[in-house]
Parts: sequence; C-alpha cells; structure tokens
Amino acid sequence: MTTLFISDLHLTQEQPETIRLFLEFLNNQANQAETLYILGDLFEAWLGDDIILPEYTPVIEALRKLSNKGIAVKIMHGNRDFLMGNSFEEITGAELIPDPTVIELDGQQILLLHGDTLCIDDTPYQQLREQLRHPTWISEFLGKSAEERISFAKHLREKSKEATSKKEAYIMDVNAQAVEQVMKEHQVQLLIHGHTHRPAIHELQINNQSAQRIVLGDWHEHGSVLVADKGQFDLRTL
Ligand code: MN
Repeated sequence: MTTLFISDLHLTQEQPETIRLFLEFLNNQANQAETLYILGDLFEAWLGDDIILPEYTPVIEALRKLSNKGIAVKIMHGNRDFLMGNSFEEITGAELIPDPTVIELDGQQILLLHGDTLCIDDTPYQQLREQLRHPTWISEFLGKSAEERISFAKHLREKSKEATSKKEAYIMDVNAQAVEQVMKEHQVQLLIHGHTHRPAIHELQINNQSAQRIVLGDWHEHGSVLVADKGQFDLRTL
C-alpha cells in the first residue's frame, strides 16, 4: 500500500481543469492508497467553513467518498486555506494535521511542513503571515459577510501576485539554515514540504548524515504527487 503526498493544488473556479484532474486523481491513484497527505494550499482560498464555494462541492464530496472507503486523508493548512476548521473535517472525513507534523513511515521519521515557514528571507511575507494568523484578525474576518470575505481574498491574491512579480526568486525559496534548524529540532533526516512550487529531491547533510528534503510540485495542467512505497520515494507528474 502506498502513501501519497500532494500540495499546492490552489483549486479555483478559474481553473476547472485542475479541479477535474484532482477529482480523477482521487478516483484513481488515491483510491489505491493507504493514506493521502495534502500539505497545504489545496484551495486557492478558504473563506471559513460557513462559506462553501460551489466549485468546491464536488471536491468535498470526493474527499468524503475517499475517507468513507477507509483511506486516511490528512490535510495541513497552507497559507491560502488556513481557515479550514472542524466543520471542514466533518464534511470531508479528513483530518487536519498541524504544521509541523512528524510521522513515522516504514520505520523512518518524516517531518511534514507546508513550507512557507522556511521562507524567512521574505520578510514582508512573514509579516503578513503573522498578521493573518492572529486570532483577533481571524475572528474579525470570520465575522464579515461572504461578499466582504470574497472581495478581501481577491484583494490579497492581487497584492500577492504583485509582490511576487517584484521579488527575486531566491527570496521566495527556503532558507538553508532554516531547513537545517527545523530538521535538527525534530531529529529527522527527511523533510517533505510544498509551497515553493519547485518540485525536487534535494540531498543534504544533517548532523553529518545524509538527509533529504523533498519538495512537492504545484498543480496546473499537470498534477504532481510523491509516492512513498516501502521506504522508496518517487516524485511523479500526472
Ligand atoms: Mn503556499
């Protein structure tokens, strides 16, 4: 039985083909798996559990179907969908897991992160992240009407697009010291994360031992999945 890791699908009504690709993935590959991990940014925007955008309904139903079949679906918040909460868990049957989470798979300890906390060179991003994760900001946001929340999310996406276009690529990648520090802190030789949209398997040295950092890919015309089977890891394009 395989364990699958995906992230950064950024599902939105503007890209219905990615939604279709994901539904197909849930019906096929995920159906054969033991556990599916979604390490953040499944949705381009999650505005609170009380607002289910119509384009997300088939996704929620497909996740429900998968969990009903006994396949464990574990979902981590990304920076776009960190407002997924208890009702989301109830309607999908998925389990929300914290960022960071350490799992054991085939005898190996693996650290799972969304990945944005590693991008510490991007100071404006980290400041915005802190602001948006503040409990006061969250409760104020959830108190707004659906229209207000939708328009604010749109405003944030535009701001983010503009900021991204002005930043050097390395600023938006992970910081090597932050990677080393978090892996040492959790005593792991393997880290799996998404967020940067730079799928790769990086070889590292942590505590003078070989280690790996696996970066999951984002989804657009193609999907990207990391397949773990008996200690082997295979990063595939769908
Ligand atoms: Mn992200």
